[in-house]
Amino acid sequence: MGDLPGVGLAKGLAVTLKTMTRRSHTHQYPDETPDLPPRSRGVIALFEENCTVCMLCARECPDWCIYIDSHKEEVLVPGAARARQRNVLDRFAIDFSLCMYCGICIEACPFDALYWSPEFEYAEYDIRDLLHESDRLREWMWTVPAPPAHDPNGEPAKEQAAAAKAGQTAAE
Ligand code: SF4
Ligand code: SF4
Repeated sequence: MGDLPGVGLAKGLAVTLKTMTRRSHTHQYPDETPDLPPRSRGVIALFEENCTVCMLCARECPDWCIYIDSHKEEVLVPGAARARQRNVLDRFAIDFSLCMYCGICIEACPFDALYWSPEFEYAEYDIRDLLHESDRLREWMWTVPAPPAHDPNGEPAKEQAAAAKAGQTAAE
């Protein structure tokens, strides 16, 4: 047997009333600043001093939006028979109009040269301005939160473990 006439309408109106009186979850950005977790994926920062131009980040990036140029330089090492060669970074840029914020480049970097910054307010009127060169990527480093404190119940840092082991050996 079907519902009485008008029951469906009453149910619908009840849902409407419930939804109308519920507190809204929408943040009125930009009037209201969103309270984001400190380690949100906002923008990628480059600590240029750590970059060895190994190219791992650019190779692993699924969007091919990291552009790196470099040249080789000879370094004279005292006592060495021949000069050594090292890579010198000429250009490092990330195109944030292509980036999908997967974080693979940060995971792949073996030299701690890339970090997440929670800054997200860098929208542009011209899409070409979303190409951030190394000076801008370096500036984002100032907005990267400090690393979390070491877990007191975790394993000690390898330097501490080595120092403790050396102390034990000396005492024996
Ligand atoms: S976050 Fe992902 S898409 Fe963006 S630059 Fe890094 S690897 Fe490429
Ligand atoms: S993976 Fe790290 S060290 Fe290697 S080129 Fe990229 S940023 Fe530089």
